[in-house]
Amino acid sequence: MHILITNDDGIHSFGLRVLAQRLGKIGRVSVIAPDRERSATGHAITVHHPLRLTPYPNFAENVESAMSLDGTPSDCVKIGVEAVLATSVDLVVSGLNPGPNLGTDLLYSGTVAGAVEAVLSGIPAIAASTMSLTVPTEDLEQIADWLGYLVRKVHQQGLPRETLLNVNFPDCPWEKIKGVRLTRPGVRRYQNVFDKRVDPRGRIYYWMAGDPVDLDEGEDTDAAAVRAGYISISPVRFNLSDPAIMEEMTTWQLQV
Ligand code: MN
Repeated sequence: MHILITNDDGIHSFGLRVLAQRLGKIGRVSVIAPDRERSATGHAITVHHPLRLTPYPNFAENVESAMSLDGTPSDCVKIGVEAVLATSVDLVVSGLNPGPNLGTDLLYSGTVAGAVEAVLSGIPAIAASTMSLTVPTEDLEQIADWLGYLVRKVHQQGLPRETLLNVNFPDCPWEKIKGVRLTRPGVRRYQNVFDKRVDPRGRIYYWMAGDPVDLDEGEDTDAAAVRAGYISISPVRFNLSDPAIMEEMTTWQLQV
């Protein structure tokens, strides 16, 4: 099994390194990751400047090849699959992202975008994030090994062509995790998003951040699962059509 690993935090991310090292025990691992922080870049691709790869020999134990790219997570998967990897990719894993990717975050997330790019190319994919920004190394290794187990399951069972798995790990020590829940992405909004500040020259600027508010209280949501101490797996399907409203709109009798 040939696994391509990417992320949105950049090639120097600790979570990426641990994931690559551990998945290297169950398959051949290639890493292509952005050369810098690209979190919250969504599904952007780079078309206005050239893309350059930098090799990272000896990136990590068990890793066949590693490269950074001056592009986005989507660029990384695209260039890997379509241009630079000599053998075909069986599965893409994007992560391990420090910080959640829940509900509406999926639209902004570079981590999830890496997985979306894979499924667009017909390759099964997993996006993986931890609720905590600082997971102890031993727990991170446990999480990465469990992702290896999930990778093998996906490889055996298969997934529908347009579907990826978005996985979030709860904020607790590995041995305290209660189990696994299959979930749907909830609805997440951020409040107090813009912090208005003044720079040293007296000019106003804004910094976007905010506190998440989960508007969907459903027990079957991703946010509810991680809050309750479970690993959340949301199968997410990228199909943007809305057949029901299309049918309903025929009654509008639109004309030129
Ligand atoms: Mn990130």
